[in-house]
Amino acid sequence: MALYMFDVDGVLTDENARPDEDVVRKIEKLAIDGHVLSFVTGRSRGWLSDYLFPLFDDEIDWSSLYCVSEHGVIKGRGTDTSSWDLDEGYVISDEVKDKLYKVSQKEKYEDLIQWDQTKEAMGTVEAVHGDPGDKEHLKKTRKALQEYADDVESIASESGNKTAVSTYGVDVIHPDLTKKIGATWILDEIHSAEEVFVFGDSEGDIVMAVTAREHHIDNITFYWVGEGETPQEDQINSVASEASYSAGTNEILEKHIG
Ligand SMILES: [Mg+2]
Repeated sequence: MALYMFDVDGVLTDENARPDEDVVRKIEKLAIDGHVLSFVTGRSRGWLSDYLFPLFDDEIDWSSLYCVSEHGVIKGRGTDTSSWDLDEGYVISDEVKDKLYKVSQKEKYEDLIQWDQTKEAMGTVEAVHGDPGDKEHLKKTRKALQEYADDVESIASESGNKTAVSTYGVDVIHPDLTKKIGATWILDEIHSAEEVFVFGDSEGDIVMAVTAREHHIDNITFYWVGEGETPQEDQINSVASEASYSAGTNEILEKHIG
C-alpha cells in the first residue's frame, strides 16, 4: 500500500486550471488498486465539489479519501464536502478580506485577476483564464498576480498574515498555515505507509514529503510537475516530469498504474 498526496492546482489541472480527465481516470485506477489517496490543496471545498469531484466515478467508494482544502484549514474524508471540518483558528478576519477585495477590484486588474468568493478562511484572487494556448494573456495574468501580491503585502503583514503566490492565484493566509498541517493530519491518521508519493508544482509542496520523512517513512518520492528548478531535500527522491501541469502528472501516473 502506498500513500499518494496530490496538490491540485497545476497538478491535476492544466495551465487554464481545468481538471484533467485523463489524470482523474488514473487516480480512479489507484483507488481500485487499494492505495491511500489524498488531496492537499489551497482550493476551497466549494471548488473541489463543483469542478473536481463531479468527474469522479460514483461506482468507486471514495469514503476513505483524505481531503485538505485551503492549505489545511478544512479537513475531511470522502467527497461530501459538507462533512469536512473547518478550523476556526486559521480564518482571516472579514476586515482584512474586505481590504484585499477592494485592491482586487482596481481597474488595472480587470479581466486579469478575480476574487475567489468560495474561500472560507483566506483571501484569494485567481487569474482570469484566457483561451487555451493564449500565451500572451497567460503572461499578463502572471504579471498581474505578482503586482497584486506586492500591492497587498502591507495589508497582509500589518494584519499578521502572510502572502502566498501559487500557479494561478495569490492567497493571503494565516501565518502558520502550510501544507504541513494537512500532511501531518493524514500521516497521523494512516499510521504507516510502505511508500509515499507526493505530487506538486509549487516550492511549498515539498513540505508534504518532508512531513512524511518526519514520520519515519523511508521511501518518499517527490514528483515535480512545476516549471523551473526541482526542489530537493535530504532522503527524498525528487523526480521532475517532462511536461508541466497535469500532463506531467499523467506521464508519471502512467508508470504507476502499469
Ligand atoms: Mg499547485
